[in-house]
Amino acid sequence: MKDILGKTIECTCGRTHTVPNIEIVEASIKEAPCVFPEAFFIADLNTASLVDLPEERSFVFAEKRPLTTVKNVERIIKESGDFPEIVSIGSGSLTDMARYAAYLSGKRFSCVPTAPSVDAYTSTMAPVLVNGVKRTFKAIPPGKILIDIEVLRNAPIDLLRAGIGDIVAKIPARMDWVLSHIANSEYICDFVWDDMKDLLKEILLRSKDILNREKDAVRILMDAQLVSGINMVIVGNSRPASGAEHMVSHLIEMFHEERGELPPFHGLTVMVGVFASMKAFEVIMEKIELPKMEYPLEERKKELLGLFDERKVKEFLSTYQKKEIPSVDLDLVRNSLRKLYEDYFPLLRRTLEIIEIRSMLNRYGRIFLSKIVRLSNTIRDRFTIFDVLDGMKLLKSFPEWIGW
Ligand SMILES: [Zn+2]
Ligand SMILES: [Zn+2]
Repeated sequence: MKDILGKTIECTCGRTHTVPNIEIVEASIKEAPCVFPEAFFIADLNTASLVDLPEERSFVFAEKRPLTTVKNVERIIKESGDFPEIVSIGSGSLTDMARYAAYLSGKRFSCVPTAPSVDAYTSTMAPVLVNGVKRTFKAIPPGKILIDIEVLRNAPIDLLRAGIGDIVAKIPARMDWVLSHIANSEYICDFVWDDMKDLLKEILLRSKDILNREKDAVRILMDAQLVSGINMVIVGNSRPASGAEHMVSHLIEMFHEERGELPPFHGLTVMVGVFASMKAFEVIMEKIELPKMEYPLEERKKELLGLFDERKVKEFLSTYQKKEIPSVDLDLVRNSLRKLYEDYFPLLRRTLEIIEIRSMLNRYGRIFLSKIVRLSNTIRDRFTIFDVLDGMKLLKSFPEWIGW
């Protein structure tokens, strides 16, 4: 990965990619105040204990996991005063907030990841909750990332599980992208898959080692997270990293946030989405016959209103109504996806078991998860495998077939 940082690449996809010049520093987390001598640090109750932060240039959230809200972003801007750089010490939420706060206040941004749990560290995007709805804002990539492998490998076990969940999502996400390329002639780039595919294979083979906190295995997971974030920057959106599985995840996350609850770690809800998305691909690849059923807009609306307030439901439905679902040449789809399907799915199924997908499925149950899957293609305009099932009138019967 390091060999592409800061480079300009003339890609076979027809575009010129500019890779951000991110400096990766390997050091002990305790060195953070020296590595970032001018920075203002953001941490939470958990991560603050890892470093001796200079009091005059740090802010520690009183919560163990502060929510990524506009209010908290504003708080960071205010607390960081005149310091020229904001550095987050933490995982997904803190990184996203610090990145967005730095962008809004014209400061530099750097980060110290404390878990290999998400691919947010190297990205430029910041998903933030605005009145309960998750919106993704453009922000800036980090100037520097401090990597302390001892901290990463000793992260809470659920963050390691979540890290594997979020990274293996790149497999169905790639398949969704290929699908949309076929169905909608959507732009696609192979470079951002080529730089991931071997890392992903290795993570699938070494999931157990990651959970056993083996240094080199955790390092591969972290590298893959960094590459995935860079891929989003290269392409200019989250297509390489997020497909149908992330819609399932976002819907579950919003369901909790709507109720004022903390959702499970991002990658844990993503793994539920990966499970569902794999099943959807299985229907197409294995030509599984499901009953065709109508799923009218009124019924969607009713189901959505059972989960979300009216304002959000209106927004979801208007997104859905703008969607055009083309008819898809299924034989072409099967041929184009065959290799990915055969290369990755058997290993992916095994990895989902290792990271205990069952515990997440049992937590939410068949009825709730079926509803979430039926509704998840209403929340984003991005074309995925769920839209293909929708176009074939299978979206209503499909979740019941999954056998959660
Ligand atoms: Zn993700
Ligand atoms: Zn490209």
